[in-house]
Amino acid sequence: MANLSEICSKCGLPKDLCVCEAIVKEQQRIRVFLEKRKWGRDVTIVEGIDEKSINLKELSGKLKSRLACGGTEKNGRIELQGDHREKAAEILIESGFPADNIDVE
Ligand SMILES: [Zn+2]
Repeated sequence: MANLSEICSKCGLPKDLCVCEAIVKEQQRIRVFLEKRKWGRDVTIVEGIDEKSINLKELSGKLKSRLACGGTEKNGRIELQGDHREKAAEILIESGFPADNIDVE
């Protein structure tokens, strides 16, 4: 019998057999776009991630450390300081989000 912590709470399967998170990632429709802030600063916005199913804080932390930039996450949006649209999309794809579901504007 597997340890309880290794069992998915949604489907009841052991974590190594569970595909819940993969399914959620396939269902996300993500928008990556640039917002101009005052004083001409660029902010890259990653929008459309379901924060109930995806650990937004963890994803945002990964993006910030890989892009070596500051940022925040709130209301299901990740904000990254600077223009990191292309690279952020690459990291999302690496993290399991399908490229077809990511719109880079
Ligand atoms: Zn599951």
